[in-house]
Amino acid sequence: MTPSVPRALAFLSALATAGCGAPRAKLVPPPPISPAIAIVGATLWDGTGRAPVTKAVTVVRGDRILCAGAAGECQVPHGARVLDAKGQYLIPGLIDSHVHLLFLTNGSAGEELGLGLRNLLAQGVTTVRDMGSSPVALLSRVAGLEAAPRVYAMQLVAGRRFFYTGLRPVRTDRGVVYRQAPALTMQWLGWTPIQYNRDEDPESVIARARQVGAMGLKLYAQLDSAAVRRLTDAAHRAGMPVWGHAWVQPSSVGEQSAAGMDGVVHAAGLAGELFTTDQRDSLVRDGDLQAATASAATAASAHDPRVLATLDSMAARGTAFEPTLDATQHSVAALATRRRRAASPQEGYVRAAAQFGMAVTREAVKRGVRLSAGSDYVAYGPVSERASLFGELRLLVDSIALSPTAALLAATRDAARAIGGEPSRRIGTIEAGHYADLVLLARNPLEDIGNLETVEWVMRGGRLWRPGQLRSGIAIR
Ligand SMILES: [Zn+2]
Repeated sequence: MTPSVPRALAFLSALATAGCGAPRAKLVPPPPISPAIAIVGATLWDGTGRAPVTKAVTVVRGDRILCAGAAGECQVPHGARVLDAKGQYLIPGLIDSHVHLLFLTNGSAGEELGLGLRNLLAQGVTTVRDMGSSPVALLSRVAGLEAAPRVYAMQLVAGRRFFYTGLRPVRTDRGVVYRQAPALTMQWLGWTPIQYNRDEDPESVIARARQVGAMGLKLYAQLDSAAVRRLTDAAHRAGMPVWGHAWVQPSSVGEQSAAGMDGVVHAAGLAGELFTTDQRDSLVRDGDLQAATASAATAASAHDPRVLATLDSMAARGTAFEPTLDATQHSVAALATRRRRAASPQEGYVRAAAQFGMAVTREAVKRGVRLSAGSDYVAYGPVSERASLFGELRLLVDSIALSPTAALLAATRDAARAIGGEPSRRIGTIEAGHYADLVLLARNPLEDIGNLETVEWVMRGGRLWRPGQLRSGIAIR
């Protein structure tokens, strides 16, 4: 916002008349570049861990929060624009720490990308972290969008075999199938994984990730524990966080946590702990991972000592964990609605992953592993079939028995910490100096997490939208 032209002119003319022997005009300081906004009367849940504050005052100037608290703690500045929020609930903007936004082959890089991001913002999501993409392509497209959450992108990294397997025969329970190198599938989507060979200097990976604007690395596949360690150390020297796609074939989640990685995604991926290093390696080379996971991952094996030891290590080391339960539930639902003559191996895998992942997440919570609520939202396909942050939070409350407060922390303060880097210092809580990323709800989300659907308005960096403004024009397919 800029000062109005008449006010600026009045100030200039006051300066002009101050000289040349004219009567001395009192010098009035110019009005602030952007007037403050005061949100008054809401119950404030600031995400820092303190109890909700009733009849709170929250003051925003420009893109930052000036203060937030009880009326005595935070004053409404003179001239502030006051937003009445009596009887409503103010919470930090939500963070979805696991999305996939860019699919060049599915059209989501064009207009669809902007519409999808507006829809996320309308749901109160003010920050997303993309976990698989071409960071440079995604970030340049997002830069031109007016109404969108903050977007951070991770750089995918995988080992040599991910790129060069040739067309290989793999024995499966459907017989022998021929698989192309997985990197080709990824590149077809428009994603740009970087290849890392164990003996290479990891600094070149870090330099390339920096160059494309990535905030950190996501280790994806075909990396052994030595490679994981070298990449993690190099990234941390450069101030970049490192996350793993569950077990990164062959390195297990336990090995990744021990290497000091910042977080891992996909609860079902802890099935990797049920195999030895040699088994994991041979599964990646010649085996059918889906079939092996479907038989090993049961609700009972979630309590296997090897799985529990890894969860304990994650809790002790502070390795963050994104279960992505909603995405798995969506896969189960999608399979159930598709009419099939016989159960497919894919179905066996998805069902096993869903049960195992749920049980692993309960154990993780019991053992003090810190959760970050990432949904694995994918920006294509029918909207009803996409995982959502709201769906993930609902499952954390209904199926994992987190309190609504604990679930909300996983999508605010703890998600910001889990993401690391700049976001960890600027988002996730309502505190002085943080970005003014806020959501006003009509009803109390701490009583019922479903009340996250009662968004009155959402503010990102001091700019306010009502959901209707954002959703208008969005094609729901
Ligand atoms: Zn994902």
